[in-house]
Amino acid sequence: MSKNSFIVIITAPSGSGKTSIYKRVLDKNRNLKFSVSYTTRKKRTVEMPGKDYFFISREQFEAKRERGEFIEWASVHGDLYGTDRKQVENILNHGNICILDVDVQGALNVMKIFPDAVTIFIQPPSLEELEKRLRKRGTESAEEVRTRLQDAKIELEYKKYFNYIIVNEKLESAIMRLNEIIAHENEKEGKNAANL
Ligand code: 5GP
Repeated sequence: MSKNSFIVIITAPSGSGKTSIYKRVLDKNRNLKFSVSYTTRKKRTVEMPGKDYFFISREQFEAKRERGEFIEWASVHGDLYGTDRKQVENILNHGNICILDVDVQGALNVMKIFPDAVTIFIQPPSLEELEKRLRKRGTESAEEVRTRLQDAKIELEYKKYFNYIIVNEKLESAIMRLNEIIAHENEKEGKNAANL
């Protein structure tokens, strides 16, 4: 059981290996719950609707946004992404730790609402390595890879606003470090997210 309920924001340039890192940590800790975002992006073949994202149309996204159902939303690499208010509320109300995978804009917005959120920036070893990983992944077109690399340069400038930086040089070490950070934060007294 988690000692406290709080939010952990995980941000990284696309292709930094962020998903592989937090998925492994989520698998091992039952008190950690992932908030599944909504997006207008096309589903990748490996992705499961409702597990990785809820894939919806732009119209559905805008209607949901109008109803105030997102804590935050952002346009990232040309698509819309949003954090669902109900899911975050549910996770925290059950005494669990809520993992949010959001871009830098989303992270800065969530920090304003939850100043106690633990913020983690996952950094690739270098931009060259990031480009290599993105090309190897092969889920984006050459044009999309270019956009993501351009965006990565801007995103890296924001890492100073985060509590922790994990350089993803070796996957196993990065997983260990994320585990340590969450365990350390969970041990702190009175770490509870404010109500929404
Ligand atoms: P991808 O398309 O590679 O899954 O994600 C692209 C970017 O969108 C990543 O930086 C990811 O963190 C971000 N993202 C995913 N869900 C959300 C969300 O709900 N809100 C915001 N602001 N960004 C998100």
